[in-house]
Amino acid sequence: MTRALWERPVAFVGGAWVDVDRSRAVVDPATEQPIGTAADCDPALVDAAVRAAASAAASWGQTPAEERASAIARLHTELVRRREQLVDTIVAEVGAPLRTARDAHVDVALDVLRWYAEQVDPGWFEYTIGNSRVVRQPAGVAACITPWNYPLYQLVVKLAPALLAGCPVVIKPAELAPLTAYLLVDAAVDAALPPGVVNLVPGSGAETGDALVRHPLVALISFTGSTAVGRQVASLAALRCKRVGLELGGKSASIVLDGAPLETAVRATVDSATLNSGQTCSAWTRLLVPASRYEEAVSLAGRDMAALVVGDPRDVRTDLGPLISAEQRRRVHDLVDRASAVGARIIRADRALPAVGYFTEPVVVADVDATTEIAREEVFGPVLTLLPHHGQEDAIASANASPYGLGGAVWAATEAQGLAVARRLRTGQVDVNGAEFNLAAPFGGFGASGTGRELGLAGLEEYTELQAIQT
Ligand code: NAP
Repeated sequence: MTRALWERPVAFVGGAWVDVDRSRAVVDPATEQPIGTAADCDPALVDAAVRAAASAAASWGQTPAEERASAIARLHTELVRRREQLVDTIVAEVGAPLRTARDAHVDVALDVLRWYAEQVDPGWFEYTIGNSRVVRQPAGVAACITPWNYPLYQLVVKLAPALLAGCPVVIKPAELAPLTAYLLVDAAVDAALPPGVVNLVPGSGAETGDALVRHPLVALISFTGSTAVGRQVASLAALRCKRVGLELGGKSASIVLDGAPLETAVRATVDSATLNSGQTCSAWTRLLVPASRYEEAVSLAGRDMAALVVGDPRDVRTDLGPLISAEQRRRVHDLVDRASAVGARIIRADRALPAVGYFTEPVVVADVDATTEIAREEVFGPVLTLLPHHGQEDAIASANASPYGLGGAVWAATEAQGLAVARRLRTGQVDVNGAEFNLAAPFGGFGASGTGRELGLAGLEEYTELQAIQT
């Protein structure tokens, strides 16, 4: 088990590990050193994996929901046993700091699995209306394509509802961080999931992912990633009448209204914008503050950014590790440089970063127009843009003037005011006055942030087809 899984390239097809002749090295972004080898599966292997899943579909779909839930509970147990190894692997392949890896990557994923293992209400799977029995049938083979930023969580939010709904899955993790997926499948083996129910085909998006999306026996594609690739996946799915769920990018606004606690709001927004080195889809990366308090907010944000510890992700004191790759760092730097070139004020601490690794300085961007690139585009790095607003209506209009709509925050003097503003935001999730994340609530986007929902019963519904049987 474990390290042996990524010492040579393997895929998992029809209940067995199979050797793959093409491979890719996986690099630790903090050390720039290779840490493992992942398979690079070709379309023939994708075909074998999808066929294995299709062969398992009828029996898994007819397995009682309680038994499917028990399998998820066993998978949860196996992953709990591997908790520290999962943490270490995520630190190594994503560069997430230890605390972030443990809390935001692994423990949340474990909680999601446990939640789905408890959802076996027969009334949800089948109900009566008039002379009809309405049955939620499994949608069929699900292709799960995930990004590198939260490699365990992104898989679990697909795998758990898919398994509970009765869908076998074929997983295509991101090339940059595929090792966690090996651990997940290893746990599924020890949890005795039937052959063909979980299949793993690491590889490139352009070849492996594309083959999966186009495969005629894939009934449903659950894709998490960039809006640009999501659009391509959706158009291919549309041509083939496949169901598709898209969890895409974001540029979420954190709105501070008059009378709200500014210091608390700025601190929480800096934390959100820099979580996982800013590589979080729902991060609050636009901070909208009353114009009268703009300078105060800029100074607080600069102070809070400077207080973050950037460095070795294996040190428990670290808040920010490296970015995932040199390319990602270049992209982030280019966006900040272009903002600077159009007159933005860039506030950054003057600290020494490690010489090796894809580290970057977290920055606050001020004095830009809401229409500038940095205020509109997803950066996917530790960059927070501050914009002034002129009252509640202006703040709502500004927050909604984004093609994205994934997360968001409202900071208000009263919960009633916060709720009233939250209802008017065109975004999938809004936290009022620093409310906690709720994994039973639907998560997903409006507009360019995607279609469909993950988490909760809404996430389970994505993997079902409704059938009405009249008697
Ligand atoms: P990405 O480049 O779109 O890749 C996402 C996944 O799609 C990867 O597994 C990728 O494979 C694969 N892929 C690429 N081209 C494909 C194609 N033509 N057909 C099928 N699959 C293809 O995104 P990323 O850079 O990994 O992740 C960052 C993005 O994900 C950000 O925009 C972020 O906001 C978004 N995200 C959204 C959510 C959400 O819940 N809304 C959550 C996390 C991340 P390769 O690895 O080989 O490229």
